[in-house]
Amino acid sequence: MSIYISGIGVSKGITTGPAHIITREKIDVSQHTLKKSELNNEIKRFKQAIAQASKQLHNIKKNISRDTPKDIIVFIDTHLLMMEDPAFNDGTIANIKQNACNAEWALHLQSERLVQVFDEMEDPYLRTRKDDVLHVVNRIQKCLAKKETGTQAVNLKGRIIIADDLAPADTITLQHQKIAGFITEFGGPLSHTAIIARNLGIPAIVGLHHARQLIHSDEILILDGDQGIVINTPDERSLKQYNRLRLDQLAKRRQLNNLTGKPVTTKDKVSITLHGNIDRPEDIKTLKKYDDTGVGLYRTEMLFIELNQWPDENTHFKNYKRAVTALKGKPLTIRTMDLGADKEIQDTIDQGPMAHNPAMGLRAIRRCLKQPLDFLPQLLAILRVSSYGPVRMMIPMLTNIEEIHQLKELLDEAKKILRKRKLSYNTRLPVGAMIEVPAAALTVDAFAEQLDFLSIGTNDLIQYTLALDRIDEEVNYLYNPLNPAVLKLIHMVIESGNRAGIPVSMCGEMASDTRYTRLLLGMGLKYFSVQANTLLEIKHIILNSSIQQLKRKSRLALAMHESSEIEALVEQINHQQ
Ligand code: PEP
Ligand code: MG
Repeated sequence: MSIYISGIGVSKGITTGPAHIITREKIDVSQHTLKKSELNNEIKRFKQAIAQASKQLHNIKKNISRDTPKDIIVFIDTHLLMMEDPAFNDGTIANIKQNACNAEWALHLQSERLVQVFDEMEDPYLRTRKDDVLHVVNRIQKCLAKKETGTQAVNLKGRIIIADDLAPADTITLQHQKIAGFITEFGGPLSHTAIIARNLGIPAIVGLHHARQLIHSDEILILDGDQGIVINTPDERSLKQYNRLRLDQLAKRRQLNNLTGKPVTTKDKVSITLHGNIDRPEDIKTLKKYDDTGVGLYRTEMLFIELNQWPDENTHFKNYKRAVTALKGKPLTIRTMDLGADKEIQDTIDQGPMAHNPAMGLRAIRRCLKQPLDFLPQLLAILRVSSYGPVRMMIPMLTNIEEIHQLKELLDEAKKILRKRKLSYNTRLPVGAMIEVPAAALTVDAFAEQLDFLSIGTNDLIQYTLALDRIDEEVNYLYNPLNPAVLKLIHMVIESGNRAGIPVSMCGEMASDTRYTRLLLGMGLKYFSVQANTLLEIKHIILNSSIQQLKRKSRLALAMHESSEIEALVEQINHQQ
């Protein structure tokens, strides 16, 4: 009998496939004393775990997509070498013998020893290599515990992954393995994992509680990312029904494909800029499948996450150059790193206990200004790549003008360095702010005076305005772009940009939601940066809208006090034109 289970659909699409359950739980290592007669078996168990971990890594390397940055392959090779290193293996085996203990504890002792060796190194780069030790140890510990990781040896192609939660990095790794979709027990639609799934076009459902108890590995599932529904062991009728739905969607998509290449102009001839959001240069290929357009938001932190450290200048540069080259003259807006909140790397984890409220913590530009030496390579690389095409630099999470002054000082420093090195850059590189903190929205005129463009980050602007954590599903019901306070702030930003004569875009998820396109057009927004797979739907709406007519209705919406009233009006606007 088919079983229907529902969660929150966060990435559209219908897919079928066998379930595969994974876990990301941390492993607790405890010490057990063994009898002398048990030690040989324990050593054998350790060797088997090493062999299994090494097989997993070889498999990942074999299945990794061809456009994966070389640095990531180098990391996998380093991890493989480490597993073969006598300091690693022989040391752990010696610990098992000397302490008559279990392999987990022996490995833990050895890893502490190795981490200390790295910690004492003078060279800051070598010091960071302890992260590799910890990763390798974690992988082997999981093999010892017979737990699978998000990147295990099983072939995941075409499978639907069921997990407690996934980090943004897991999502990327899983996509390399060509999974059909994923379901998590926790998380909300605005988490970066959900955003990445949308950008990659992987159908996904989050917040499906107890998914790992309700679904078993290898059961056949239908995942409906549009409705947030999973059908477990579907019967013939459900399979047929969903297949029809999938074909309908494909037909609709084919129709939209006719819009590719068409100029983005409203019925009353107002020209609108419609760009895409990307996480990695490879995403430009997907973007181009929909339309030959530019990038309004390149979230560079994925590079940090994939490397699990601050990249050096050349790694930044090589990535940005790939993006500029792939765009062939279309604009590229590079956002400086936005780590913190739900995106972490080893460096941020190592810096002590997690902030009580990471979303309010040392995130994005705050961290960059606190660690200027680590940030400088990114600034240098963005400047350098600006001489290869129309590049803009965008700063996330600015809260006050002092941060802009500090940023400009650093940027001047970077320019000086490049002049000394005789490397070229665009001396008029446009620098813009993401307006995503209410303080910035409320003082936006001052920001507009200092900068070349503004971009509204609705994901965070809504989070901070409505005082709710965007990844906390308990308060997700409050997340509403049509809250009157949110609309007022958005309108203030658009008006301020227009007065100052600088472009204002919106790159948060609100821009990708077709329900809001007309309202935003009426509010004066002329630049949308959206997920690749919604690009043509948004374009279709723009081509069929008349701004003059929408202006009056939007004014009415802005005067309303209740979200429900605004929702009703927006529905009316969407059905009228
Ligand atoms: C936003 O906050 O709207 C945004 C685009 O940035 P991110 O989702 O990466 O925080
Ligand atoms: Mg943001």
